[in-house]
Amino acid sequence: MENLQVNTPHLGTPFDNTYARELPGLCVPWQPRPAPQPHWLRFNEALARELGLDADRLASDEGLAIFAGQRVPQGAEPVAQAYSGHQFGGFSPRLGDGRALLLGEVLDQQGRRHDVAFKGSGATPFSRGGDGKAAVGPVLREYLISEAMHALGIPTTRTLAAVATGEVVRRQTPLPGAVLTRTAASHIRVGTFQYAATQGDSDTLERLLYYVIRRHDPELAEADPPALALLRAVMDRQASLVARWMGVGFIHGVMNTDNMTLSGETIDYGPCAFMEAHDPDTVFSSIDHQGRYAYGNQPGIAQWNLARLAEALLPLVHTDPDEAVALATAEINAYPALYERHWLAELRRKLGLTAQGADDAADLALAHDYLQLLTRWRVDHTLGFRGLSEVLRRSGGTPPTLTALFGDGAAALHPWLDRWTARLGLQGEPMQAVTERMDAVNPVVIPRNHRVEEALEAASEAGDLQPFERLLAVIQRPFDAAWVGSAWTEPAPPEQTACYQTFCGT
Ligand code: AMP
Ligand code: MG
Repeated sequence: MENLQVNTPHLGTPFDNTYARELPGLCVPWQPRPAPQPHWLRFNEALARELGLDADRLASDEGLAIFAGQRVPQGAEPVAQAYSGHQFGGFSPRLGDGRALLLGEVLDQQGRRHDVAFKGSGATPFSRGGDGKAAVGPVLREYLISEAMHALGIPTTRTLAAVATGEVVRRQTPLPGAVLTRTAASHIRVGTFQYAATQGDSDTLERLLYYVIRRHDPELAEADPPALALLRAVMDRQASLVARWMGVGFIHGVMNTDNMTLSGETIDYGPCAFMEAHDPDTVFSSIDHQGRYAYGNQPGIAQWNLARLAEALLPLVHTDPDEAVALATAEINAYPALYERHWLAELRRKLGLTAQGADDAADLALAHDYLQLLTRWRVDHTLGFRGLSEVLRRSGGTPPTLTALFGDGAAALHPWLDRWTARLGLQGEPMQAVTERMDAVNPVVIPRNHRVEEALEAASEAGDLQPFERLLAVIQRPFDAAWVGSAWTEPAPPEQTACYQTFCGT
């Protein structure tokens, strides 16, 4: 690591670029395309401070020049990362960063390593005819949703900066261009392993394996075999992550293998959205015609993607191919039970239930019956869960808000509430402790789709960032009781939800 020079633009902390240095076969050195006339959309000062960057300095024109790709900060060694991917089930051997660049890695004050990367910084050798650009709307969507996920306590990449480029990006209509700066525990994807596996030499694959273990799972270095141990660790992180998504009604929208990380962070916010009325079949993405990535399919798709990771790892699992397949298959077959454990834990948190001495099957059935009620009566997922703690606070009679949410289903709700409160009674806890716990996991506000759209439209079409700023401030405090009953909690009008579609923004 070199000393920082005062006159060269820098982040205020040195880069240490292990990926570019140790895995040259999996990336291509490349430079960002400078934005012609950049201006700030938003700088995430709080995140900059968390990372130990010089936030004051970066909030200036110097930061703007860096995040617009005009001046590469000292110590950065930008590379486009190579990866493959199964997109909607079909394999593309060569995807890679077609509009992204990894600038390098920085260490925060706790010594944790973070990638700093651009999205929308121009074409690369992986662009496959694309322009390498991003538009203001999708960039601000990633900013909003990633910040919301972080505030909800769900592992995610973060957004450090969003700048407008001053350029027009040609999509179905001309749109203002933008560049996003993203931070991540790493950008290593299932697709990175798929790419390494297609290189035909086990050396590249092995280097990647040991790199990931050093970076994310150092305790697995001595495991036998390490490839299987890593698969198990990634399965656990993904099962946990998807259970958290399901808990808040998040729909990723493009769970392709290139959009699934080894670190267990949510990545690549494209046509993602939060479900309103609870319905497992919910799909928002305009390109997901078959509903492959519908809300209720996400746990199964995660397993499918993990099976692709297992396939890529096979040469490192065992020297005998049949034995390798048997070992990897046994691991992947354990996924449904693994996921169910995480899902039950998530549902228990949402219902205020503790696991001690409890009957797993009975708790799962209780929770699933509530989900079925939500589906049957088209109850808003977020309000339907947040409303439950109100029942406990009132001790006697269903609160009017929950009754109203269920409409004609209120009569069906009562027997379920009796079962649930009887089950809670077995815990012998003061109800206040239960409600406090529930209110810390069941958000009052999520980024409502109509609010997100309103904010992106104002920013993109009129250059007005105020709706974005207002919404951001709200979703950064998702559990705050101050929002209860406010307009921020309201679902979109039904006619808007019925035709709501999200786009990849590519
Ligand atoms: P995504 O749907 O954003 O996960 O991207 C899938 C693949 O398409 C990745 O390899 C991207 O780098 C590439 N890609 C998406 N948009 C563009 C673009 N505008 N120009 C070049 N490549 C792109
Ligand atoms: Mg992607």
